[in-house]
Amino acid sequence: MNNPEVGTTIGITFSLILFFVLLLIAIATAVAGAVFLGLCVYNDAQSRRNPNAALWGVLSGFFEIAALIYLIITMSSKNQPPRCERCGSFLYPGYPGYPGAPVCPVCGQPVTFLPPEQAQLYARRRKRYLILWIVSMAACVVMIFVAVILFTLSMLSNASFLHY
Ligand SMILES: [Zn+2]
Repeated sequence: MNNPEVGTTIGITFSLILFFVLLLIAIATAVAGAVFLGLCVYNDAQSRRNPNAALWGVLSGFFEIAALIYLIITMSSKNQPPRCERCGSFLYPGYPGYPGAPVCPVCGQPVTFLPPEQAQLYARRRKRYLILWIVSMAACVVMIFVAVILFTLSMLSNASFLHY
């Protein structure tokens, strides 16, 4: 480039484009990560037969704080017995029909439990989406970091005081 002014302008334009492209990819990765987190929470809630699994999944997708609240609630209620799907009452061991043909002591309806293979499927999906969430969040942070570094470096190298 004969004219250093033109070269500088092209350099700044290029680094600006690169900066915004990286930023856009980072935003897309963050959105994908939010979807993965929502799916992770949804599958965990399904494996626990939480009646609000879809709601927790959607909330966690939109607000990561919801996933944290879900985690705290889940961990604090770890030792609770399973609930009746219809009325929500706790099914303490010894309820009518236990363990062969269980019946809810409150609403009197037969209780069904999640088949083990279905529980394993939810557990596998939960793990997969958790890993995808971690990977996308890490990729997002790295891309923003790279974008800022590239942008700063190109601004510094194009600064007029460095040309003399
Ligand atoms: Zn019931």
